[in-house]
Amino acid sequence: MEIVRSVANLKDSLANNSELKMGVVPTMGALHKGHKALLDVARKECKFMVATSFVNPLQFGREADLSSYPRSRDEDMTIFEQAGTDLVWEPSFTDVYPDQFETRVKMGVFAEKLEGIYRPNHFDGVATILCKIFNLIRPHMAYFGQKDWQQTRVVQKLIYDLNFDVELRVIGTVRDTDGLAVSSRNRLLLPEQRSSATKLYKALKVGIHSFQHGELDCDILRKKMLDVLIPDEDVRVEYLSIADAFELVELKKIRGPAVFSGAVWIDKVRLIDNVLCGVDIEGLVDAT
Ligand code: AMP
Repeated sequence: MEIVRSVANLKDSLANNSELKMGVVPTMGALHKGHKALLDVARKECKFMVATSFVNPLQFGREADLSSYPRSRDEDMTIFEQAGTDLVWEPSFTDVYPDQFETRVKMGVFAEKLEGIYRPNHFDGVATILCKIFNLIRPHMAYFGQKDWQQTRVVQKLIYDLNFDVELRVIGTVRDTDGLAVSSRNRLLLPEQRSSATKLYKALKVGIHSFQHGELDCDILRKKMLDVLIPDEDVRVEYLSIADAFELVELKKIRGPAVFSGAVWIDKVRLIDNVLCGVDIEGLVDAT
């Protein structure tokens, strides 16, 4: 496995392999078994697998969130290596954003819904770094997690609108045995906060279960989900949503593919999760 930092070195390393089917797995490091699932699918599907590891300041709103973001560089490199990664791009801030860098990608309405309401400019930051990654690496395939469902929709839109020649793959959410979606931010949870952290997924499942038993009214479904969360004083609900899975528009009644999603705060840790129903897209791969 080769590890490169500068854009020049990245280009050099890629030049020898440009003929091979190339896959990219963008990450912010602090790897866990969710990232591993993406790497495993990419390894199976591609001849040359590139992973990126960069905590992108452009997609963080609050400085405190950026500075407290977990980092575990040495463990990450072991995980990349064991997953069979061919090349890791691990740039510094100035490798990605040299002095006088000022261009930003501005996403449209997709990026302003759900997460975008609470994290303005977040997806513009994601889109900006992805343009760099797609332009530099020129992957045939790009791997993202369902855990960040809205992000997958934003990426799909970016690929379409800016004509990137890359195929998006979405890998199902990997969870711990208690149901909590694995996330780099879970490392910030205290052991006693763990059971509160699992409540979001429990609430989403209550919603889906009720829908599967015939309840289509989203106000009623949202209320049922909220009832799971409200009794726990350690959970602060930021939003709970039932939206069209592709348009991300909030629904009154479920009539087609939908995404049940939410964000909660456990003290200073923000967690997001989602469950899909009726979504059948090419590229949605179950986590292995
Ligand atoms: P991050 O390092 O948090 O930017 O995540 C890198 C990629 O891993 C993104 O495409 C995420 O959606 C994906 N990912 C994060 N958590 C999970 C998970 N629990 N299951 C599957 N994919 C995940």
